[in-house]
Amino acid sequence: MDVPSATPSTTAFGAAVCANHPRREAIGICVACRKQVCGECTTKVDGINYCVSCLAKLAGPDRREQASAAEASPIGGALWLALGTITLTILAWGLLELGAAW
Ligand SMILES: [Zn+2]
Ligand SMILES: [Zn+2]
Repeated sequence: MDVPSATPSTTAFGAAVCANHPRREAIGICVACRKQVCGECTTKVDGINYCVSCLAKLAGPDRREQASAAEASPIGGALWLALGTITLTILAWGLLELGAAW
């Protein structure tokens, strides 16, 4: 058989191989880094394939972000409440001023 190969990495048999295991057949492509990965190296998240390293990257900052958001939310809420109160006060004063001018 003389089939032109379009895939970047193939075995001697012409099958796509895992980026981490050169002797294993790739069953999917990581959506994040486009690496071809085998069943052991791929993890499906919501039906989307991720390789091990991209999954680690995905899980790492996400957890930290959630933790910091939970920490910051009481302060953020108070700040927004204060800002809202100030805005309302300014608006009320503006309306009073308008009322006086009329
Ligand atoms: Zn990846
Ligand atoms: Zn693999």
